[in-house]
Amino acid sequence: ERINIAIDGPAGAGKSTVARKVAEQLGYIYIDTGAMYRAVTYSSQQAGIGPQEAGKLADHVTHLDIKLQAGDNGQTVFLNGKNVTEQIRSRDVTLNVSHYAANEAVRQFLGAAQRRLAEDKGVVMDGRDIGSHVLPNAELKVFLTASVEERALRRYKEVAGKQPVTLEQLAEEISQRDQLDEQREISPLVRAEDAILLDSTAMPIEEVAQAIVKLSRT
Ligand code: C5P
Repeated sequence: ERINIAIDGPAGAGKSTVARKVAEQLGYIYIDTGAMYRAVTYSSQQAGIGPQEAGKLADHVTHLDIKLQAGDNGQTVFLNGKNVTEQIRSRDVTLNVSHYAANEAVRQFLGAAQRRLAEDKGVVMDGRDIGSHVLPNAELKVFLTASVEERALRRYKEVAGKQPVTLEQLAEEISQRDQLDEQREISPLVRAEDAILLDSTAMPIEEVAQAIVKLSRT
């Protein structure tokens, strides 16, 4: 019997790596909802629409078609047929995505798309509001956290040599993004009551993935 698995938590807790591994082991589909918010952000920025322009944003999202495709190196993201996998990881998108994600039309559009993707079960979906809002009936919910220092350090190792940014800057940016995500009015980042709390601060990502696979079989 296939189930749906929701993995939520703050930025940089290792959700996407864990979710990908779990999906791989179970033969499930992995869906990175953060990538969808990033694609909307990138597209809006390209169109010159700011996060506060609610009317324009509401109209803009109706013209967007976002597709996720599993690949060897994670997933490929298509926006209206164009591969934007690299672009949506830019600093400019990362620093602004939480503002676009606070918009009601954006959340409704993406939430509906995410529910459709999960209709047939057998998905591992990672994000901020999956267990609490998008898939409240998911059979397994995990809230994955880690200390902000550890999360910043992991991100630092990823971007070292690629982006001119210090560890302190990354820690500051991660905390700010968490705050914006926790404090927004519509479906904020929160642990669903029935979500299992996992702290990956001192736990290797591989072990976290194994724990979730095990939980999915109980
Ligand atoms: O997961 P990732 O860090 O790529 O997510 C980028 C941003 O997208 C988050 O900081 C948050 O503002 C937004 N997001 C969201 N709800 C989700 C997934 C992501 O608001 N389910």
